[in-house]
Amino acid sequence: MPDSEQSSSPAASEAPPFRVGNGLDFHRLIEEPDRPLMIGGVEIPGVLALQGHSDADVLLHALADAMLGAMGLGDIGEFFPDTDPRYKNMDSRDIINFVHSEVKQSGYKIANVDLTLIGERPKFTPHKAEIRRSLAALLAIPLDCVGCKATTTEKMGALGRSEGVGCLAAVLLTRNSGG
Ligand code: MG
Repeated sequence: MPDSEQSSSPAASEAPPFRVGNGLDFHRLIEEPDRPLMIGGVEIPGVLALQGHSDADVLLHALADAMLGAMGLGDIGEFFPDTDPRYKNMDSRDIINFVHSEVKQSGYKIANVDLTLIGERPKFTPHKAEIRRSLAALLAIPLDCVGCKATTTEKMGALGRSEGVGCLAAVLLTRNSGG
C-alpha cells in the first residue's frame, strides 16, 4: 500500500482517509426580547431566545460535536464547560473556529456538513438560506457542501410544544493529501 509519495510516518499512513461525525444538541426556548436568538450564526428576529450559558446556538453546538466526534476528541462540554464564567454568552462561532483549527491541525479538512433543525418555533424555513451562507462562510467551504434542513416532531413531545429546539449534525472530514 505505501508508495513513494506517501509519508513514511506510521501514524500518517494509518490515519483514515475519511472521518464521519455526528452531533446532537437541544436548548430550551424562552421569551426574552433582549437576548438574541442565534441559529447557525444567524440572528433570528423575534421575542424568542435559546437558553444557555453561551449564546446557545444549538446548530453550531451540534456541528462542533460532530467535528469533535469525527476526530475522536470528545464533546464541547469538555472544552467549554458551562460552569466556566469565561464562556458566558460566548459567540459559538468561536467554538467552531476552535474545533475547526483542531481538525486542520490534525491534517483534515471539512468535505461537507449536513444539519437538521428540529422544532415548531421559530419557523426555520425562511432562514435556511441565510444559515447555509453563514455556515459556508464560517467553515470556508462551498455553499453546495452545506445542507440545512428543518423538520418538526408533528407536535409530539417537548419540541412539539415549542419548549425548545433541537439540531442534528453530520460532518465528513477528508485527510489532506500527504498529511
Ligand atoms: Mg448546547
